[in-house]
Parts: sequence; structure tokens; C-alpha cells
Amino acid sequence: QPSIVFDDVVFGYDKDRTILQGLSFEVPAGQAFAIVGPSGAGKSTIARLLFRFYDPLSGRILIDGQDIRNVTQASLRKAIGIVPQDSVLFNDTIGYNIGYGREGAGADEIIAAAQGAALTGLIARLPQGFDTEVGERGLKLSGGEKQRVAIARTLVKNPPILILDEATSALDTRTEQDILATLHRVAEHRTSLTIAHRLSTIADADRILVLNEGRLAESGRHAELLRRD
Ligand code: ADP
Ligand code: ADP
Repeated sequence: QPSIVFDDVVFGYDKDRTILQGLSFEVPAGQAFAIVGPSGAGKSTIARLLFRFYDPLSGRILIDGQDIRNVTQASLRKAIGIVPQDSVLFNDTIGYNIGYGREGAGADEIIAAAQGAALTGLIARLPQGFDTEVGERGLKLSGGEKQRVAIARTLVKNPPILILDEATSALDTRTEQDILATLHRVAEHRTSLTIAHRLSTIADADRILVLNEGRLAESGRHAELLRRD
């Protein structure tokens, strides 16, 4: 698995306002890190920079020791899987939605494992299983069901890095707990970065980074941060 390094990253969408003010952190290979902070702190911006939707004004971002400016867009997309908060599914079958990102993932057992991890229970309840049409054309899925499909779609690509951008924060607590349990399992063999706005959902993280106004305010394990509060 690759490591992720932010090295003194400065970034702003507009010239007159910087969002990240010299942000540095390292997620060691295979570890599960989380980022918390108030809305607008710049958490999702970190994900956008990792995908090179934007480049830093100064500083560097390294994946596996390589400046991502020297990495092709195609290999970045292969290396990083993201589950956003409100996943948009295609008006098509569940199978199509999951298979969409499949190219390059290869082995069928990877696909089966990904589907199993995220979709346990869901497929069995659908009238035609993977062939069930969803969206305007078919069955309406709940928020939690949609997120399960979105997680499977990301996992099918077997990305060594997994970014969860408030992947469960729009769901009710019970559904959130179910899906978090799934995500913990699948994040185990990857380098992961979970963006969250509640500490309670990231109790298992190897380290939690607290972002405030584009700077690292503090970091530590869950219990340490709770003690300091
Ligand atoms: P968070 O994920 O912590 O809530 P974001 O990283 O989404 O915060 O946004 C950080 C700041 O950048 C916010 O003040 C937001 O309004 C601003 N912002 C986000 N996207 C854009 C954009 N495309 N253009 C200008 N400002 C943006
Ligand atoms: P794909 O199946 O290729 O991942 P998506 O439409 O889900 O197709 O997303 C296209 C790409 O955009 C993704 O590979 C991911 O890199 C990026 N992406 C999607 N959603 C977000 C998001 N909320 N924040 C940052 N990047 C995103």
C-alpha cells in the first residue's frame, strides 16, 4: 500500500482567500487516518487535491513517495477510490452501477469480495438481484442502500487508497453503524483517509487529524483527543 504525504501545502480557490495554510501530515502505508474539523475547514479540499482537481499553490503532495504532479491522471484514479457523501447512481441496473468502474480490477474474486463486503443482504432483497433497475427507471433505493452500492462500485476497483468523504453522515444512526462496520473491514488492508464531522464515527482510526481554518490544530488517537477536550 502507498503512503500519503502533504508537505507544507498551501491552497486557495481564489487569490484573496487561502483555504489550506501550509498543511503537513503523513498517512503511513496501510494506516487508517481520519480528518475532522468544522464545516468549511478544508476537509473535502484535501480530497480534491489528491485527485488533482486542483494543484497546490505551493508545497507538495506525495503518494508512495512520488509527487502526484508526476503521476498520470489514470494511475491516480486507479490508486485512489473515493466514496462521497451523496453518491449518484446511474439510472440502470445495480450490476451496471457496480461494474462501471471494473476495468483493470481484474480477478472475479476481487469483484465478488467487494460485492460481498458492501452488499450483504441488499442483493437478496432486490427482486432481480444484480439485474434490478434502480433510479427513475426502477426501484428507489434508500440512502443507506445507495451508499452500499457506491461502496461496492469503489471497492471493485480494489484501490490501495480509500477516501471516505462523509460517506455515512447523511444516514440515520443505525444505518451509519452498519455501514461503518463494513467500511472498517474493507479499509483494513488499505491506506485510508476518512473525512468526518463527528468524532464518534472514527473511534477506530489509527490517528485523527483535527483541521481548523486550513491548519492542523492537533492530532492524536481518539481517546487522547477526548481527554484533551
Ligand atoms: P469542508 O470539507 O471542511 O467542509 P471544503 O474543503 O469543502 O470544507 O471547503 C473549504 C472552503 O473552501 C469553504 O469555505 C468553501 O466555501 C470553499 N470552497 C469549496 N469549494 C470551492 C470552490 N470550488 N470555489 C471557491 N471556494 C470553494
Ligand atoms: P468512477 O467510477 O470513475 O469513480 P465517479 O463518477 O464516481 O466515477 O467519479 C469520477 C471520479 O471523480 C472518481 O474516480 C473520483 O476520482 C472523483 N470523485 C468523485 N466524487 C468525488 C468527490 N466527492 N470528491 C473528490 N473526488 C471525487
